[in-house]
Amino acid sequence: MLLEKVEEISGENLYACYQCGRCTAGCPMTGEMDLMPNQVILAILRNDERVLNAKTPWVCAQCYQCGVRCPKNVDIAKIMEALREIKLRSNVNYIDLKKINRSYPQIAIVATMRKFTG
Ligand code: SF4
Ligand code: SF4
Repeated sequence: MLLEKVEEISGENLYACYQCGRCTAGCPMTGEMDLMPNQVILAILRNDERVLNAKTPWVCAQCYQCGVRCPKNVDIAKIMEALREIKLRSNVNYIDLKKINRSYPQIAIVATMRKFTG
């Protein structure tokens, strides 16, 4: 079940979330997201596997703003990471390495590989 997998990888208790929306209100990346951070939590609680195909976990900047704002101490950045891991563990890379522009700084390329490839 998706919920169990996410809780195991992230170490977070998703049932603590009461959908107040403070995480979404403070997230700097919502303009690029197809599901808001609180909606991601709700989808996982419902074991809705469509969340694994959402763009949101990939555009999350891991800035931890949501976790800092959450009154229930839910660390959504860890939950986003868990969703990416579940996808990458099925041997599906999110980006094609051949399409990376090699003129980018080396540190950016390494960080990109770590986040987007399995
Ligand atoms: S801030 Fe915390 S409790 Fe509120 S919706 Fe986000 S994860 Fe849930
Ligand atoms: S860690 Fe991700 S979801 Fe949380 S506020 Fe930052 S960009 Fe948004």
